[in-house]
Amino acid sequence: MPELPEVETVRRGLARALEGRCLERVEQRRADLRFPLPENFAGRLEGRRVVSVGRRAKYLATVLDDGMVWLCHLGMSGRMLIGKGTAPPPEPHDHVLIETDNGGWLRFNDVRRFGMMDLCSSNALGDHWLIRDLGPEPLGDEFNGISLAASLKGKRTPIKAALLDQRVVAGLGNIYVSEALFRAGISPRRLARLVQGPRAEALAVAIKQTLGEAIAAGGSSLRDYVQTSGELGYFQHRWAVYEHEGEPCPKCGTATGGRIRRIVQTGRSTYYCPRCQR
Ligand SMILES: [Zn+2]
Repeated sequence: MPELPEVETVRRGLARALEGRCLERVEQRRADLRFPLPENFAGRLEGRRVVSVGRRAKYLATVLDDGMVWLCHLGMSGRMLIGKGTAPPPEPHDHVLIETDNGGWLRFNDVRRFGMMDLCSSNALGDHWLIRDLGPEPLGDEFNGISLAASLKGKRTPIKAALLDQRVVAGLGNIYVSEALFRAGISPRRLARLVQGPRAEALAVAIKQTLGEAIAAGGSSLRDYVQTSGELGYFQHRWAVYEHEGEPCPKCGTATGGRIRRIVQTGRSTYYCPRCQR
């Protein structure tokens, strides 16, 4: 499942391919993805010029020249592919096909169809039912140690679960929660309400750093954010703790022999070092 850094890398690739371009031909090959596509979806996109490609949490928000926003979530397996010239014949799971006025093409492919697309007015994006309850953007200025401490106050769940709550911080997934808690030296089992003051500050910084470094790594490993296959985003990234169960801890492994442990919290794997994280 794409996490926020992958979605941001897809956004950058889409921005390069689409901004300023006219969507000359749009074909939808199904009436629904995870949810039904809006009425006359392809017809409403066709002929529109793309003003900008933005992102809110893991939602791609493409602003069109008629004041509408094309909202898209990649779900579990959604992929964006781009290219130039004659597009290859559509594959069975290519659900949306687009051609641009500069001879480019775009495909949305989604095998499991947990992705979604919708259209809404750009003025009303903040009120969209999928957007309105989202917490602050982790990379934005409104998210910091003080705001994080305030939203964790009184929470009796472990910090791991609290950070996966999209109302606390938007767009954070299982991998980056493990990585950020490791970086901040905070146990995933610690009660959320006990993450206050300097701990909350360290955690907010760690979240920004782990996401920022992953985005930078994705950008540098992909030419113009595009793989040779034409697929946007998605890159191999080396995690510090995620999927490193039993391996020496990168911080204390040499000095104390600390090893990464895996536990299951609310049905999801958490990786951490019991020696470094308190
Ligand atoms: Zn350690």
